[in-house]
Amino acid sequence: MGRLDGKVAIITGGGSGIGRATALLSAREGARVALADVDRGAGEQTVSAIAAAGGEAFFSPCDVTNSADTRQLARATVDRYHAVDILFNNAGIAGVGSVEETDEALWDRVMAVNVKGIFLTTKAVAPYMIERRRGVIINMASSIAFVGLARRVSYAASKGAVMAMTLSMAADYARHNIRVNAICPGTIHTPFVDRYLRESYADPEAGLAEITRRQLLGRLGTAEDVAHAVLYVASDEAAFMTGAPLIIDGGLTGTK
Ligand code: NDP
Repeated sequence: MGRLDGKVAIITGGGSGIGRATALLSAREGARVALADVDRGAGEQTVSAIAAAGGEAFFSPCDVTNSADTRQLARATVDRYHAVDILFNNAGIAGVGSVEETDEALWDRVMAVNVKGIFLTTKAVAPYMIERRRGVIINMASSIAFVGLARRVSYAASKGAVMAMTLSMAADYARHNIRVNAICPGTIHTPFVDRYLRESYADPEAGLAEITRRQLLGRLGTAEDVAHAVLYVASDEAAFMTGAPLIIDGGLTGTK
């Protein structure tokens, strides 16, 4: 018995990192997966990996900042699998810089992908959940919604907004029997962090060693660490959980 047997899951940003690990785990636990990403090659690779492991998935090209794409994603999923049980709003981008270092274009882009992307994808998908009076929405926030980190002003603003949106959405959707929660990871070693290291450190290897030293548990998180947290929230085991953050950050938020 899989923990998501019979469920249909949409995962945005599923071509890489946390989205990819969650897609693979969800399929292993019995979900049929609609895999959305802007990167077609990466998305199709994840779908092939799921198929090779005996799972069921398809790729839907989707830029979450484009409402035509998000509507097409929802429609394609329902046409193929006749329902949507789980929406994992995971797609996101980094923004490095203080106020002085952040130009207006970067601010707008980070807010568009990380915040408006969740609004548009939910707007497209939620009607199908409301119709069946069931669903789980999981929004990708970050522990940066709770902890001040230097030189992340656009990214922090976006993830704080995701956390606040999650609470508001949970209040709106409860009467439709739809749970809405947020995942708040710390530093997770994915291509996203590799990019950050390349942009922020003259020597990315030394940068990795430095951020690893800061971790209470002596290592960065893995995409699989986060995927297991998402699996719990998506499953019926979390039936009484809504309007809540699940912090998975190796102790960053809770300790000093
Ligand atoms: P990755 O960069 O490894 O994966 C993100 C995926 O989303 C990529 O395939 C990316 O494509 C895709 N993507 C980017 N923009 C869009 C868009 N507009 N529409 C659809 N897909 C898009 O990142 P992670 O797996 O590390 O991060 C996933 C989420 O987790 C993000 O929301 C991030 O903010 C959050 N997070 C990550 C943490 C970490 O330490 N890694 C910590 C806390 C939160 P492309 O590569 O082409 O841009």
